[in-house]
Amino acid sequence: VRSAGMWRAASRQGPHLRLAGGGAGIINFCANNYLGLSSHPEVIRAAVEALEKFGAGLSSVRFICGTQSIHKDLEEKIARFHQREDAILYASCFDANAGIFEALLTPEDAVLSDELNHASIIDGIRLCKANKYRYKHMDMQDLEAKLKEAQKYRLRLVATDGAFSMDGDIAPLREICQLAQKYDALVFIDECHATGFLGPNGRGTDELLGVMDKVTIINSTLGKALGGAAGGYTTGPKPLIDLLRQRSRPYLFSNSLPPAVVGCASKALDLLMESNAIAQSMAAKTQRFRSKMAAAGFTISGKDHPICPVMLGDARLASVMAEDMLNRGIYVIGFSYPVVPKGKARIRVQISAVHSDEDIDRCVEAFTEVGRKHGAL
Ligand code: PLP
Repeated sequence: VRSAGMWRAASRQGPHLRLAGGGAGIINFCANNYLGLSSHPEVIRAAVEALEKFGAGLSSVRFICGTQSIHKDLEEKIARFHQREDAILYASCFDANAGIFEALLTPEDAVLSDELNHASIIDGIRLCKANKYRYKHMDMQDLEAKLKEAQKYRLRLVATDGAFSMDGDIAPLREICQLAQKYDALVFIDECHATGFLGPNGRGTDELLGVMDKVTIINSTLGKALGGAAGGYTTGPKPLIDLLRQRSRPYLFSNSLPPAVVGCASKALDLLMESNAIAQSMAAKTQRFRSKMAAAGFTISGKDHPICPVMLGDARLASVMAEDMLNRGIYVIGFSYPVVPKGKARIRVQISAVHSDEDIDRCVEAFTEVGRKHGAL
């Protein structure tokens, strides 16, 4: 941890950080705070109001005495936001992913999962007894071959991240949905890195790619763009949500979301349903960063996504460059094997709506200086 240059912030999550022990003015480019809502005054006020009115916590799981009106309201709001029938809250999206596959799939079924899916999807699939297929990353030929093989099973579920967190690339959902239709499969997407900002109204990857009516199940988080506190959910057809309330173990056997957290997420969704201005501002800043970095000579993986992996290849180069970036007041993290494949080390930059144009330009300038110094340019 120390060699990765981790330190503690002594300020709210946001674009500018103050460090424990003194340093100020660090620009943060590694939070999942895509819309800057973690420190939005209205989001904070909503949390305080919920805390005062509904208390610190429930000391209960949902189905005993842990459901308040705000939990039901938030579930209804999430379903409305995604244009789905119903939704169910969890303590995290990790839990939502841990709960869904086991509750839905039996040994007579099959699940087909992209090889680069998030660890929580992989773990959730491990917990279920369905027949498991892993298809090559975003490879539709491989997915089709595996769907053919899986025709012998009762039900098929294709599971993919909507946007992949290490590469900033977006699943080919149109093609996935076409294959799902052809081979009678359901589609599940994890929208942790899409909810709130991808698509014209920030509904996510399914909106971006025009397949909102074709994706059956969405899992996502309240801990990134939607206020950043914590919590996750599944949204989809009502019978599925009813089944999860009866069968999903992380829902049945874990404490309810605290009111302040519910208040944050609920206000974040209100803000996003009122206007897509915040999401558009983030998209413009993403565009600014990606085009200026490309002009400087860097290779940025993915397309139009605020996750902007600066591809460097060498693990040591990624680590020393990230360290030197911090010396210049820019907080970014280098990723290398085993988090990403060997030879594909990178520094992952994440853009937020609350970065100013000057913040973005300072980051590009620092990359250019540091890249030249270390021979990356
Ligand atoms: N799925 C993806 C793709 C993620 O990136 C994450 C968080 O890192 C999760 C699930 C887990 O979300 P949460 O932090 O709500 O448990």
